[in-house]
Amino acid sequence: MVRTGWGWATLAGMSTIDEVMAANEVYSRTHELRRLTPRPARKLAVLMCMDTRLSIRMMGLVEGDAHIIRNAGGIVTDDALRSLLVSHYLLGTEEFMVINHTDCGLMHTSEQDLRTRIQNRTGTAAVAPAFFYAFQNIEENVRHQLQKLRTHPWVPEKVAVRGFVYDVASGRLREIKEW
Ligand SMILES: [Zn+2]
Repeated sequence: MVRTGWGWATLAGMSTIDEVMAANEVYSRTHELRRLTPRPARKLAVLMCMDTRLSIRMMGLVEGDAHIIRNAGGIVTDDALRSLLVSHYLLGTEEFMVINHTDCGLMHTSEQDLRTRIQNRTGTAAVAPAFFYAFQNIEENVRHQLQKLRTHPWVPEKVAVRGFVYDVASGRLREIKEW
């Protein structure tokens, strides 16, 4: 039996979120991340896919080193851009890394397929999100993200903006040059 937000539950009946809350109770006894500051120690911001196979471990980073901004695909959306600007102007990062990866879910679909699939499941259309940012060519997709950052008037030239493809089979990052 463990204490949850709504009372007592058996372990067998716990949802993952309940398990997370129980684990947090254990974590908070030592709270090892207490010493971290909000400013990334290595002045790096990484925009990458939310895919489970990507991690700060593959870059030799530890908590506190960098801002990790994640969404489906590792796409420079308005919101990712917002986070990168906050990262640079408020919290001092000086290098931006954009990471897409092989076998990405957004490569196995198209904008129209995804929209149709969800509409068929739900029986309804929706205005937002306007785009899912499905893509076919991964290198082209990385270059497109770099271009969106490079051409933005609020991303200063002194900020290094570099793009990469992470190979989920080999574990290697490969840099994609802009042009
Ligand atoms: Zn992905």
